[in-house]
Amino acid sequence: MESIYEYSEEMFKQYFVENGEKPFRSSQVIEWIYRHRVHDFDSMTNIKKEVLAKLKEQFYFSALECVTHQVSSDGTQKFLFRLEDGNWIESVLMKNNYGYSICVTTQVGCNMGCAFCASGLKKKKRNLKTSEMVLQLLSVSEFAKIRISHVVIMGIGEPFDNYDNVLRFIQIINHPLGLEIGSRHITVSTCGLVDKIYEYSEFPLQVNLAISLHAPTNEIRNRIMPINQKYPLEKIMEAVGYYIEKTNRRVTIEYILLKDINDGKDCADKLCDLLHGYNVYVNLIPYNEVMEKPFKRSLKQTMVEFFDILKKRKINVQLRREQGGDIDAACGQLRSKQMKKEE
Ligand code: SAH
Repeated sequence: MESIYEYSEEMFKQYFVENGEKPFRSSQVIEWIYRHRVHDFDSMTNIKKEVLAKLKEQFYFSALECVTHQVSSDGTQKFLFRLEDGNWIESVLMKNNYGYSICVTTQVGCNMGCAFCASGLKKKKRNLKTSEMVLQLLSVSEFAKIRISHVVIMGIGEPFDNYDNVLRFIQIINHPLGLEIGSRHITVSTCGLVDKIYEYSEFPLQVNLAISLHAPTNEIRNRIMPINQKYPLEKIMEAVGYYIEKTNRRVTIEYILLKDINDGKDCADKLCDLLHGYNVYVNLIPYNEVMEKPFKRSLKQTMVEFFDILKKRKINVQLRREQGGDIDAACGQLRSKQMKKEE
């Protein structure tokens, strides 16, 4: 048996054709699942009994169990879900002036080993299935009774280390007969898996790319992000250049400000040199301190100075406000707490 949330419209079409059925049934199924949000086959009233019987043989409606739900003082909501195999994942719902956005997890744990990040405290156990990503969106939106308009693929895990499932997830949530999340409202964030950045450049949907850069030199980046030894900055920037040329889209550069590590004026200058001439937007992110990690958040003053240097050198930049700090919404912190409780 497979989860019904594994299938894109294309896959259903193929399924129906292979089963001697009309291809348009795929549109009907997609509408029932994602428009009307039914949780069983018998609610699909415009589909023949025999067709439904066949569907029931192959598919079922999988679900996530919500274990914990927290609401932060700024309205950010955090969900801890239990998967069918007992693993935990988390999703974060953020309220913005332009609507609701969800931060989706892509793997159980993470193997990238970034020195500052709580997610990597536990190694990757497995990739999430497409259905498990789709269900994060469906469950959160049903629980909170809101429509989600934006999706950031920035939860636990490295999306480009689970490339095919993540891209099918994007195709499913983008489908015009289903959830219809605009491609421009979907962002994938990567720590810099260069070969996948090239592949992603060929993806036909106009989705956004964010790069977790976090350092302006290989010397610093090697210290905090082990992946940099495989894909150093110059390779990343080459791939980013290719992506921009190919897609004509602006790339977001994420830069966490870590006290005395990457937040000096010299770092700001070097970052400007590195990004000069690229169509990028820099997101400066206040670090969410992690108990098990030695890193500290930069002082407010330092962050503002860093911001000013970029601004002065005409780099598009914003200093991101922090969300959900009081509910462990930062990057794997809720999951790691839950795991400790149960250990
Ligand atoms: N693996 C992907 C996506 C998940 S991490 C990536 O690296 O982009 C999402 C973002 O949160 C990354 O930019 C990551 O570096 C950042 N991050 C991780 N831990 C953080 C923390 N404690 N405080 C602030 N940002 C953090």
